[in-house]
Amino acid sequence: MEKVKNLVVGAGLSGAVIAERIASQLQEPVLVIDRREHIAGNIYDSKHSSGITVHRYGPHIFHTTQKEIWEYLSTFTSWHYFFSKVYAWVDNRYVTVPFNLNSLHQVFPQYLACRLETKLVDEYGYGVQVPVMKLMRQKDADLQFLAHYVYEKIFEQYTLKQWGVSPREMDEEVMARVPVSVSRDDGYFRDKYQAIPAQGYTRMVENMLHSPLITVRLNTPFEKIKNEIQYQRLFYTGPIDEFFDYRFGPLPYRSLRFETEQKNMEYYQPCAVVNYPNNFDFTRICEHKYFLNEKSASTVISAEFPQAFKRGENEPYYPVHNASSAALYERYVQEAAKLPGVYFYGRLGGYIYCSMEQAVAAALALFEKIK
Ligand SMILES: Cc1cc2nc3c(=O)[nH]c(=O)nc-3n(C[C@H](O)[C@H](O)[C@H](O)COP(=O)(O)OP(=O)(O)OC[C@H]3O[C@@H](n4cnc5c(N)ncnc54)[C@H](O)[C@@H]3O)c2cc1C
Repeated sequence: MEKVKNLVVGAGLSGAVIAERIASQLQEPVLVIDRREHIAGNIYDSKHSSGITVHRYGPHIFHTTQKEIWEYLSTFTSWHYFFSKVYAWVDNRYVTVPFNLNSLHQVFPQYLACRLETKLVDEYGYGVQVPVMKLMRQKDADLQFLAHYVYEKIFEQYTLKQWGVSPREMDEEVMARVPVSVSRDDGYFRDKYQAIPAQGYTRMVENMLHSPLITVRLNTPFEKIKNEIQYQRLFYTGPIDEFFDYRFGPLPYRSLRFETEQKNMEYYQPCAVVNYPNNFDFTRICEHKYFLNEKSASTVISAEFPQAFKRGENEPYYPVHNASSAALYERYVQEAAKLPGVYFYGRLGGYIYCSMEQAVAAALALFEKIK
C-alpha cells in the first residue's frame, strides 16, 4: 500500500492552488493525480501546428477584482492584458453584448436608436445596468419594445441552446441577471484585472506545480488507485457524486462539444468571441489568435455546441442548478461531512459554476482552514 501525506485529485486550477500552497507554505509532500493526459484541467491550452495557442475546453479570460488573487497568480506568470469584447450575430450583423448604447446604434435606424438612448439615460442615468425584466415592466412602449427585442434576439434562443430549456422554465434569477447597459463601455467584464497568462494557462499551472515536493501523475483516475493508496488528507476536485459511486443518483450536468478548425485566412471574425443566439446549433465561435495577439497567415476557430451530459461519453461542464439538484447535492455534502481529512472543492467537487477567480479564492480559503 502506497502512503502519501497529501493526495490531490485533479490537476486543474483548484488542485494546483492547494498543491502549491501545501508544498510552499507547509513544506509537505503532495501527490497530484489527474485522469486526463495533461495538467491544467479545463484551462488547458496548447500550441496548434499553426503556432496559435488554442484553449481546448473553451475560451478562458482571467478576470478579477481582487488584488490578492491577481498578485498570487502573478508569481507564476506574466500577463498579456486582454479586455474582452463580445459580439452577437443578430439580424445579420455584429452587435455588442451585453447590449448597450452602442448596440442600439448597431441594430436600429438612427432616429429610433437616438430616441431609445435618450429615454434610457433619462430614466435610469448613465452607467447603470438595467435588468431586462425591469425594462419589460416599463409603461413606456419604446422601452418595452427594447426589452422584448433584447430578450428575444440576444437571450431566449441562446439560453435554449445552452441549457436545452426555455428561459421561461428556468429560475427567475437567471432572467433577472440579463442586463441592458446604459453605457458605451463595450467590455464584457468590468473587473479591474483582465488578462491571459503570457505563456498560456498550462505554463502557469506547470509553474504552480513546479516543486520538488509535488509529484504529478497523469492518466490516473482516482477509482483505479483508491484501494492502493493511503493518505492523511485528500483534496478532491472531481465530481462529488462519482466519489460516492452515485449512491443517491447522478447530479445533472450540461456538456459541450468543440469543433476546432484551421481557416486559411488571417482573421475569421472581428473579435475573440462571437455569440450566435439565433442561427446554427452552436452557441458561439472563438477565434484563438486574439487572446495573445498571435500573428499568422491562417487562423484557428472553435465552435461550441452545448449537449446533454452522458456519463462515460462526454465531460460534465455546467451544473444544472434547480431545486432537485440542490437537494441531491446536499445529501452528498452530508456524506462528505462524515469523512475527516477529505475536502471536496473546485468546479466539480463543489458542484458550482466558478470562474477562475472564484476557483483560486476558494482553494486559498480552504488552505487557510486546513493549515
Ligand atoms: C466553456 C467554459 C468557459 C469558461 N471560461 C471562463 C473564463 O473566461 N474566465 C473564467 O474565469 N472562468 C472560465 N471558466 C471556468 C473555469 O474553467 C474554471 O474556473 C476552472 O477550470 C476550475 O478549475 P477546477 O480545477 O475546479 O476544475 P477543472 O478545470 O475541471 O479540473 C478538474 C480536474 O480534475 C480531474 N478529475 C476529475 N475527476 C477525477 C478523478 N476521478 N480522478 C482523477 N482526476 C479527476 C479532471 O480531469 C480535471 O482535470 C469557463 C468554464 C467553461 C466550462
